[in-house]
Amino acid sequence: MPSTANALNLRPPESAPAAAAPVVEVAGLRKYFPLKKGLLRRTAGYVRAVDDVSFAIARGETLGLVGESGCGKSTVARTLMRLIEPTAGSIKINGQDVTRLGKRALRPHRRQMQIIFQDPFSSLNPRMTAGDIVGEPLKIHGLTQSRARHERVAELFEQVGLRAQQINSFPHQFSGGQRQRICIARALALSPQLIVADEPVSALDVSIQAQVINLMMDLQRQKQLSYLFIAHDLAVVEHISHRVAVMYLGRIVEYADKATLFTDPRHPYTEALLAAVPVPNPRIARKKLLLPGDVPSPVNPPPGCSFHTRCPYAEARCRIERPLLREVAPGHHVACHLR
Ligand code: SF4
Repeated sequence: MPSTANALNLRPPESAPAAAAPVVEVAGLRKYFPLKKGLLRRTAGYVRAVDDVSFAIARGETLGLVGESGCGKSTVARTLMRLIEPTAGSIKINGQDVTRLGKRALRPHRRQMQIIFQDPFSSLNPRMTAGDIVGEPLKIHGLTQSRARHERVAELFEQVGLRAQQINSFPHQFSGGQRQRICIARALALSPQLIVADEPVSALDVSIQAQVINLMMDLQRQKQLSYLFIAHDLAVVEHISHRVAVMYLGRIVEYADKATLFTDPRHPYTEALLAAVPVPNPRIARKKLLLPGDVPSPVNPPPGCSFHTRCPYAEARCRIERPLLREVAPGHHVACHLR
């Protein structure tokens, strides 16, 4: 896919890190939300937001997670962070299973994983100064005294490209890009190994997006951070990720290193997503692959392959038998009967 990286003024990406022990391993993760109905609020069904999702992220690696709105990406992020409880499956941080740990036992692991949200304004308390916001995790975890905390906050401000003089300013006094820098500084406060970035640049102007992405990549190089990077902008995902997972209706349907996924997509849904990306060169014609209809409801997903209602290649078997995610080439996994 021709990259829009230059148009966005993005720095060249790092090559993929050598295989290392995973910082996070997710296996068979499921999150079903009960649907309550009637006066007695009886459970009438379940929204299968995340349905059997597995992946691992190595130290210093970025896994991009893409898919249409409502496919379950953000639920994966929140379940992984244990902000919502998983229905089934396991989450391991540095080899330790944290899936069922209680609040107190989870605390030291929480320090290892932090989250950045899409909207940097609503995720910052307007009544707190930027310095207090960044220093809050340090206070909660009782790490430092006030003076030492102030020094650490000033250091974090510098790391994310904010001036120490801005410590006493309030969120409304910052631009959108600066507010996202505050969120990144807060996420870095406890020196985590994993940052879950849920659409971190979607709410920002294109020029500012590049600055934030470049900052995240610099920080990854310096600190060997691992990222789960969730976005619907494939150009950004292509740039920052080492590997990419494509989600459809709560499941991963394709999973590969980014070069493979962007040059040799095998799943029809990935093909359609890539075909929809605008090419910044009018002389390059791209084959359009328009998907009919909408994403089916996760309350009542279609039987067999959940993509069969929109797939141009669907055949009888697809309507009955669910395709498993299988390795079609080294490191390249696809859930499709025909690929
Ligand atoms: Fe399309 Fe069938 Fe493959 Fe599903 S299994 S993506 S319906 S060809």
